[in-house]
Amino acid sequence: MKTNKSFALLLFLFFSTSILAQKSSLSYTVKMDNPEWHFFHVQLVCKGIKKEFIDFKMPVWTPGYYQKMDYAKYLEQLKATDETGKELKWEKTADNTWRVFSKNANAVKLAYEIKTMRSFVATPYVDETRAYILPAGVFLHIEKMIKHPVQVTVVPDEKWKRVATGLDSIAGRKFTYTAPDFDILYDSPFLVGNLEELQPFYIRGVKHRFIGYKLGDFDKVAFIADLKKIVDAAVNVIGHVPYKQYTFIAIGQGPGGIEHLNNTTFGFNGSNFNNRENYIRTLHFLAHEYFHHYNVKRIRPIELGPFDYDKGSRTKMLWISEGLSVYYEYLVVRRAGVSTDAELLNALRGNILAFENKPGKRYQTLEQASYETWSDGPFGRTGDEVNKTISYYDKGAAVGMLFDFKIRQVTNNKKSLDDVMRFLYKEYYQKKKRGFTEEELRSAFENTAGTPLTEEFEYITTTKELDYPKYLNYAGFTIDTATHELPDAYAGFTVRERGDSVFIAAVDFESPAWDSGVRRGQQVLEIDWQRATPTLCSAILSNMQIGKMIKMKLNTSGTESVYKNIIPERKRERTFHIMPIENPEPLQKQILAGWLKG
Ligand SMILES: [Zn+2]
Repeated sequence: MKTNKSFALLLFLFFSTSILAQKSSLSYTVKMDNPEWHFFHVQLVCKGIKKEFIDFKMPVWTPGYYQKMDYAKYLEQLKATDETGKELKWEKTADNTWRVFSKNANAVKLAYEIKTMRSFVATPYVDETRAYILPAGVFLHIEKMIKHPVQVTVVPDEKWKRVATGLDSIAGRKFTYTAPDFDILYDSPFLVGNLEELQPFYIRGVKHRFIGYKLGDFDKVAFIADLKKIVDAAVNVIGHVPYKQYTFIAIGQGPGGIEHLNNTTFGFNGSNFNNRENYIRTLHFLAHEYFHHYNVKRIRPIELGPFDYDKGSRTKMLWISEGLSVYYEYLVVRRAGVSTDAELLNALRGNILAFENKPGKRYQTLEQASYETWSDGPFGRTGDEVNKTISYYDKGAAVGMLFDFKIRQVTNNKKSLDDVMRFLYKEYYQKKKRGFTEEELRSAFENTAGTPLTEEFEYITTTKELDYPKYLNYAGFTIDTATHELPDAYAGFTVRERGDSVFIAAVDFESPAWDSGVRRGQQVLEIDWQRATPTLCSAILSNMQIGKMIKMKLNTSGTESVYKNIIPERKRERTFHIMPIENPEPLQKQILAGWLKG
């Protein structure tokens, strides 16, 4: 019988998993004595994995930070023993793989050190003040056993009283946590120290905590009230809270944040909140990391799970995961009533300016920027090469806005980008329990709009100019895309001094300096026939005039020197100021109201 059969199967599964759970276990202990040495002391006890040899592996990256980090390089002094304490031989079989010849031992114990170098969200770090355990850089997993449960005990330095993490703790065991598998462990950093916790708040009955190291001096009650409204506005976009508890973990001053399923870790400094711009920027940033628990952790490109910890996981769809998270960070802070319309428009304008002022927009598409991030870096290449790449954060946010207004326009404001996000969440995260393909993503957009979005998807796959005026008009806005000439003379380069010498620091693409062949890093030997000194260069550059040539002798290759003539001209720029129109039509009014309200 069907019921009995499935009952028997259930019983079988129950017993076989409990036998498996009894048979093998993986338990970590992380100590941090003498934190001033910047080392974590890690011990792993594996029981019941009887094999000739076991391959232990360290990820090469951490999900959320799409760069190879080479964590294995910082693992030192590995020692392996069996249950009798006998030392086991091991060898490295790849840069991130240690093969331990366990010879069918019942238990294998590994002990190793992790050297930490830099306080940053994507690297483990410990010093006298606190410890940040970034799991992908600290814990080894066993080849092909990523789904094995794991237990972690943190032993804080004796001065430290608290541990913050998104993992479940084991009742009655101090600072001991479990993860159902290594994907969850790698998604759950630990912050250890004397931490401050702000007043928790509840959204739809679910607890949200904010805890961190040296949060700074600011109005913490007002801050938590604003954060609560922002989380509420973000939850309202999707309409569902998928976690039991969420923790904001502030790891100290410094840039960057990484999203996780039920927490985020980020650099934070509340002491600069007396400046309104800093405050709003921080709230945008927190909204971004928070919104990621939907967009990328659950609403995700198919390539972003299961993760390839050896090679990294490349996708062409980071414009959705990052670009739309930027777009929504502004929207939810506005919808929460925390920022103003002007602050929302100005934030979007910031991304438009950053994108439009980089010549890379002519060379690289959004899909390419996403795919190439592993080699280009999260914000595109740096140096002169910056001219060939774009940031999917900037263009992705701008395109997100155009899509949103387009969908609202063609559906008489009945549908919006929010509906696309809700559909992706329900269909792929909740129902199919997987990511979406590029085709499925496009169908989700076009089905919501009820019409093909051919023109709009060309903004993803080509370098076609974005038609901002058309889309912003749907919501009753104008945008100034005209090129304005500025009165001052402009040459398009800056210099820096090293000792008594002068070097070219930066050159704007297609500026007078660029067109005459001046490039970053060249040494300026002479300027206007005189030996170049820092004082002389800055005097000449600050007094330059339109049409009056600057002559420079540059050392371009270490041996050769050449003369370059630069003729300053007026700088041209576009402001992209966004303004509401005077007398909007009813649909324009509705679209604007729907956009701001959600
Ligand atoms: Zn992000």
